Amino acid sequence: MKVAVVKENSPGERRVALVPETVPRLVQAGLEVLAEQGAGDGAWFPDSAYSEAGAKVVAAEDLYATADVILTVTRPDQAQVERLRAGQAVFGMLSPLIEPGLARALAAKQVTAVSLDGLPRTLSRAQSMDALTSQANVAGYKAVLLAATAYGRFFPLLITAAGTARPAKLLVLGTGVAGLQAIGTARRLGAQVSGYDVRPASKGEVESLGATFIELTSVVSAAGEGGYARELTADERQAQQDELTGHISRHDVVITTAQVPGRRPPLLVTEDAVKGMAAGSVIVDMGASALGGNVAGSVPDETMVTENGVTIIGAQNLPSTVPTAASNAYSRNMSALLLHMVRDGALVVDTSDEIQAGVVVAHDGKIVHPAVAKLLEPEGGAHVDGAGD
Ligand code: NAD
Repeated sequence: MKVAVVKENSPGERRVALVPETVPRLVQAGLEVLAEQGAGDGAWFPDSAYSEAGAKVVAAEDLYATADVILTVTRPDQAQVERLRAGQAVFGMLSPLIEPGLARALAAKQVTAVSLDGLPRTLSRAQSMDALTSQANVAGYKAVLLAATAYGRFFPLLITAAGTARPAKLLVLGTGVAGLQAIGTARRLGAQVSGYDVRPASKGEVESLGATFIELTSVVSAAGEGGYARELTADERQAQQDELTGHISRHDVVITTAQVPGRRPPLLVTEDAVKGMAAGSVIVDMGASALGGNVAGSVPDETMVTENGVTIIGAQNLPSTVPTAASNAYSRNMSALLLHMVRDGALVVDTSDEIQAGVVVAHDGKIVHPAVAKLLEPEGGAHVDGAGD
């Protein structure tokens, strides 16, 4: 079976789905590995490193014509989808719950679609495959570096002959994987760190990193299913924003990471909260998206300075800005999942397996993932099957 890693072509994407270090693991499992010319360039892995590791470096044309399994980081674009043929499989972060149309297009082409973002994350045997976690870790780390660079003072307490600098007061809103990594990184830089989340379980995790957990009286718990948060009601949201505003004004740097699966990111930092911050403060909104983010006025991929001197960084796709580390981790996640699905050198799709039930979206011309199929149901509820769509 030929497994091929493509060169990502979405704008600004520097990661690569498979790094040279992982190639021998796949070769030992009886797989032939192809790498598209220049696939690793953005993450500093030259073609020669792939060849030395045992992969065959090929042009895109040959790759799409001969590969059985295609590995990507992000969703393939229209041109890449057009090149795929029946019987091939695509593994990547396909976000089928956000963009089910791609899954439908792949099913229609009889292409098997496997999406790493559907992995059941609480299964301990799936942890090595958890790309959402590995990439969130990278993002949380980089968010702190961006904040430190934009901040006009030091993060640590510094006592010098020229005077004493107090440590920066940094607040992390949303302390899941990215938030905890942000807390750890900010602590290592010497900031005085606080964290807040709607899941009470995160209190212990925040405190174990040496940060202070902020408890709100207005929202006691919004723990949802599977370790995620649930969406707040309108009243809860208002009360949370009002109470957070006071805390935010006492901090120099705020990093927001809050997400609720399948919903737009919750607004945590309102316009009033931004106005309440001192000139020179910095906010990094990791929830910034086209749908809106955690911070009023943040724009994805843009940095702006408000009239009262607050820098707001709309951070999108931070993992791509640490491309080597992000690709190394993603590549290990990818090979662990791929090898889990390979028997005797061939891909075996078996959705009775809990891991595969989460990640396999389309197979044999059908959408096999119930949540994705439901999204694609036409009004009236007929079963969606990719063929012929
Ligand atoms: P996420 O990216 O979905 O959200 C980030 C954080 O935002 C979460 O902690 C969430 O509680 C918080 N949040 C949502 N709405 C909020 C609001 N209105 N106000 C404040 N905070 C809000 O989450 P994630 O980082 O993917 O992690 C989600 C959960 O999954 C965590 O409990 C994490 O420990 C767990 N997890 C477990 C495993 C495992 O068991 N192996 C692996 C990964 C994640």
